[in-house]
Amino acid sequence: METKTAVYPGSFDPVTHGHIDIISRGLEIFDRVVVAVATNSEKRGLFSISERVDLLSRIFAHENRVEVVSFHGLLVDYLKGSGYKTILRGLRAISDFEYEFQIANMNVHLYPEVDSVFLMTSQKYFYISSSVVKEVAHYGGDVSAFVPENVVHALKEKFNQE
Ligand code: ADP
Repeated sequence: METKTAVYPGSFDPVTHGHIDIISRGLEIFDRVVVAVATNSEKRGLFSISERVDLLSRIFAHENRVEVVSFHGLLVDYLKGSGYKTILRGLRAISDFEYEFQIANMNVHLYPEVDSVFLMTSQKYFYISSSVVKEVAHYGGDVSAFVPENVVHALKEKFNQE
């Protein structure tokens, strides 16, 4: 049987339990999930691309159905080059929907064979975003409910709190 792979793209700066939840649920639907860290985001990141890839890789070290990669340029070009045709994204709020709808349509325009699959956020992760996590961590707040252990440490290191 053909292996069904979904590509889950994003900034992951840094990865949160919200992302991990989408990946875990994605694995219930797909055989493999390729987590693709985008390197061309306009947003200036707190973590470098290799740091983000490293944090993600450690979290999924024991899950051989998850692969972590980074890509540069357009997602559709990465998809064309790798032969994948399914994009996985998470939806948090109505505000996410408008943006996601725009991007998904643009991706189909650029690569008609591609399809996007959206998973609704689990209720308990609805309010988690990488930016809020960074803001709270920056001022020394406890973010251990929102990100895994290795990310808690990485944030403390970034903000010289260790
Ligand atoms: P981007 O900058 O491309 O939005 P993010 O790393 O912020 O990248 O998010 C990647 C994907 O994960 C997006 O589909 C986003 O909606 C989803 N996501 C982010 N946070 C959560 C969360 N708390 N629960 C579910 N999905 C989330």
